[in-house]
Amino acid sequence: MKTHRWKTGGRRNLLYLGVLLAAVFVIGVAWQAGNKDTKIWNWTLGDKVVVIDAGHGGVDPGAVGKSQTLEKDITLAVAKRLQLLIEQGGGKAIMVREEDQDLGTSQGLLKRKREDLAQRLQLAMDSQADVYLSIHANSFPNEKLNGAQVFYFADSAEGKNLAQAVQQSLNSAINGKRVAKGNKDLFILKKASRTAITVEVGFLSNPTEEEMLKDPGYQQKLGMAVYEGLCTYLSKAQGVKQR
Ligand SMILES: [Zn+2]
Repeated sequence: MKTHRWKTGGRRNLLYLGVLLAAVFVIGVAWQAGNKDTKIWNWTLGDKVVVIDAGHGGVDPGAVGKSQTLEKDITLAVAKRLQLLIEQGGGKAIMVREEDQDLGTSQGLLKRKREDLAQRLQLAMDSQADVYLSIHANSFPNEKLNGAQVFYFADSAEGKNLAQAVQQSLNSAINGKRVAKGNKDLFILKKASRTAITVEVGFLSNPTEEEMLKDPGYQQKLGMAVYEGLCTYLSKAQGVKQR
């Protein structure tokens, strides 16, 4: 009887030990998840205002991929995901467009495109936003080119800082190798009253990347990477309000 009781006790002890180990495991997992949450929740934007300009729209499709993917659809999809992340992070997002539309009104296509650009430019200049962020997709005759790349106005130190932060998080998210590039010809980046960048999310002229850009999971990955870079920049930026 004694032996039997000891055996039962031993089994019970083993059971307790098992439960204890399971509890330690669960707490460990929860702890790690908690740490992850902490990291995500540190990416908050406070009261920062970001203009998100989804490139093209309406009569202007932008670049067109080999399997007829339209740049205007990709830019809007990524812009909307970014908008949600910014709002969840406590920031304010001003969307240049939320639908498939352009900002022009004339009938003639060229005139309408000019009006559209002028409207976007006006919005970028007028907004009291901390950051102006336009989303585009690239296209190039050499279909081998791929990857996301960020552009900034070459004379803007803050633009460069933001571009480098976003480029870095994009590169680590999609295993990219591109380098943020200064540009003096991107008029809207020059004229935007705040820190401004253009994110080219990938090449529609590359058939593999075109397929990726259509994938909602990939669009989310891109939006998340831009958001992460934005938060990294804002947490470091001292003089966000100036160039
Ligand atoms: Zn474009």
